[in-house]
Amino acid sequence: MSVQAGEPAIEAQELLSGLIRFNTVNPPGNELRAQEYLAGHLRAAGFECELLGAEPGRPNLVARLRGAEAGPTLCYLGHTDTVLANPAEWTRDPWSGEIADGFLWGRGALDMKSQVAAEVAAGASLARSGWRPARGELLIVAVVDEETGGELGAQWITENHPEKVRCDMLINEGGGAFFEYDGHRCYGVCCAEKGVFRFTIATDGVAGHASMPGMGDNALLKMAPVLERLAARQPGYRPTAEPLAFLEGIGEDPADPAASLARLAEADRRLGIMFEPMFGVTFTPTRISASEKVNVIPSRAELKVDCRVPPGLGEAEVLEDIRDVLGTPEEGGWRLEFSERVVGNRSPIASELMDTITEWVGERDPGARTVPVVLPGFTDSRHFRLAFPDCVAYGFFPHRHQSMLEAAPLVHGADERIDVRDLTFATELYRDLARVILG
Ligand SMILES: [Zn+2]
Repeated sequence: MSVQAGEPAIEAQELLSGLIRFNTVNPPGNELRAQEYLAGHLRAAGFECELLGAEPGRPNLVARLRGAEAGPTLCYLGHTDTVLANPAEWTRDPWSGEIADGFLWGRGALDMKSQVAAEVAAGASLARSGWRPARGELLIVAVVDEETGGELGAQWITENHPEKVRCDMLINEGGGAFFEYDGHRCYGVCCAEKGVFRFTIATDGVAGHASMPGMGDNALLKMAPVLERLAARQPGYRPTAEPLAFLEGIGEDPADPAASLARLAEADRRLGIMFEPMFGVTFTPTRISASEKVNVIPSRAELKVDCRVPPGLGEAEVLEDIRDVLGTPEEGGWRLEFSERVVGNRSPIASELMDTITEWVGERDPGARTVPVVLPGFTDSRHFRLAFPDCVAYGFFPHRHQSMLEAAPLVHGADERIDVRDLTFATELYRDLARVILG
């Protein structure tokens, strides 16, 4: 399968449809044919391509366009695996890649075969036109295995072949769809990702026959006050540099985050839900377990809490917040155990890359602003930031037609689709960015 040279916009659409038709639901992934398809396209355009992987059926693609002189390496990153899709819940076949009603439909149309297609179309069309970086190099890296954590993908390639993917600037997923607030159009540039400090609260009791409630000592009932406290409120705000700059960017007051967030949520509840987690540690209880038998009073109960922590904060702050919301273990009669401790990651908000993106957005959508955002989850950017501490990595795939509020529910959901005008918009950004940064 090959795509003819053409207008970059058409090229991106054909690449995206082609990518969606490869079913790369992970697990198991099966990304090989999609990766070979991209490698063939980029090689034909003039890129040097390598397929490198821990498993032969799941290689990562590294495509390089060298410049005449030494200079910065700009890397466009993406992943070609997707989460699953249940066709019964969709109005169209999730692997059709068809265009209808102005949208290109299918699993991966937003997360994130669209960005991969835009990056590849941008790079390939530039290379075919004869453009080469005046300095530095353009890297296009398409990895496998992101949706289950990147062990065979971004983590593997940054640990096993760092010299192949070393970069100074990185564009990845995580931000870019516009939202409106107070009459302004804003594009979020994802500068940071929260860490994960999952913990378990355990209570103890004495087993007994469930036919006599007073027999034994029921460990599950001791969880009731813990759940009540978790339901009542989240920990207090601990705003870091990124959310304060976000408030400034949307025209709110960084000196009073609580009042600013209240106004944001009043303007649109969904904006509050999506942006409030940037401002502090969050606790979300997700699993509870107790007796194995319905007729046995439990001697032990366990509550698992998914806890997300802004970059720069760690276990000390989480412990303070647990004490703040739940009180002390002695008072509550429970025990605490951490199961995961991964700190967040970030890149500087101020950089040449940010300035270039901001200028481009201002030219292409006059009056619109860029604002830094923190992803409450995480992406492959964390592996690159860890491997290359000086790399400036941002999540940015701009949409000016399909808003953040329209796109967000479709990610990992049914009827995932992208407005084809936004695929063109992003492809143009990636073409322009390469020419401005690399000359
Ligand atoms: Zn993704």
